[in-house]
Amino acid sequence: MKNRKLLMIPGPIEMDPAVLRAIGEVTTSHVAPNFIESFGKSLELMRNIWESPKGQPFIVAGSGTLAMDMAVSNLIEPNENALVISTGYFGERYKNILETYGANVTILQAEIGETVSLEIIEKELASKDYKLLTITHVDTSTGVLTDPKPIAEIAQKHNTLSILDGVCATAGEETLQDNWGIDVVLTGSQKAIGVPPGLALLVVSERAMHVWKERKTNVQNYYGSFHNWLPIMTAYEERRPSYFGTPPVNLIRALEVSLTLIDKEGIANRVKNHIKYANAFRKAVLALGLEIVPKKEAIAANTMTAIYYPKNIDAAQFRKDIADFGVIIAGGLHAEIKNLYFRVGHMGAITKSDIVATLSAIESALEKQNYNFKSGVSVGEFLSNSN
Ligand code: PMP
Repeated sequence: MKNRKLLMIPGPIEMDPAVLRAIGEVTTSHVAPNFIESFGKSLELMRNIWESPKGQPFIVAGSGTLAMDMAVSNLIEPNENALVISTGYFGERYKNILETYGANVTILQAEIGETVSLEIIEKELASKDYKLLTITHVDTSTGVLTDPKPIAEIAQKHNTLSILDGVCATAGEETLQDNWGIDVVLTGSQKAIGVPPGLALLVVSERAMHVWKERKTNVQNYYGSFHNWLPIMTAYEERRPSYFGTPPVNLIRALEVSLTLIDKEGIANRVKNHIKYANAFRKAVLALGLEIVPKKEAIAANTMTAIYYPKNIDAAQFRKDIADFGVIIAGGLHAEIKNLYFRVGHMGAITKSDIVATLSAIESALEKQNYNFKSGVSVGEFLSNSN
């Protein structure tokens, strides 16, 4: 019997076998010609997948939080104003990071399951000079999707830089960085990018690179400073050897493989598939009589779903039964509703059969607790909506 479970959490995720094989390849020198090619190619592919031909990509060893940290530590200066548009746990994290670098932070906090309205954002940006704002594309604690396009538009009008935390979104949710005028789109390797955890990935606009170059104060971050990493990215893209900190050779080779797969499929097709599966998955969950955390379908993420447990259910037992079935899902993350809901990731190289197995596991766990529903209804609903 296969001794592995299906990993259906909102990152890390199930990976394409070709990516796993790449991780297991012999580790070469970080200045070996084959690795220089992998690194350079990965940077070029990021531009395609971020839809940012003009942007400056960065690949740095670290988690998604490092990407968040690099974006703001390079752009904000002490006592400048920053606006955080928060739809959950990761908005709060951005506030903490910004305060670490001496920013004056205002946080616009959406109610659980809601987004912040454009009127409120516009009003706040008009009230004072904001150097930058942050948006969480999909907040992994609520499964709420924010549309970055109109926010980026308002930001440009007010001469404010926009930073998109795409950790649970990039390569799964539509992101046209250059077209929408977003200054930084960042993510971690372990989500829709489809690589194990360990890489911070960012693409920075020309405008933001210019703002960074014109800083009056030094960047208060050594490891994450663009001063250290920009020459490295330039060198690899020009296929020259270079060194600042040893890059995670195997992870970057895996990144090249995964980005190539996404690029071959076409980022627009990849996003379309995420939307199709997410819609079908939500229909399946609703057919079970369950409720999702986002208050409207239009703001429900396509990379993951946050679902309330039915009333009178033993949540720990429910999750354990799902795990015993062979599927790993995630519990709650948002402090206020932590024990009331669970989360399922459906991004990256996900297949129909992965989702069918997950729904079967959920049904089986519900049956064990005598929850009243028609057996098989969720699988049927998913299958009839996922073609
Ligand atoms: N932002 C979002 C939206 C996330 O989902 C996560 C991780 N769950 C992070 C930031 C932080 O990423 P990491 O855990 O890789 O540091």
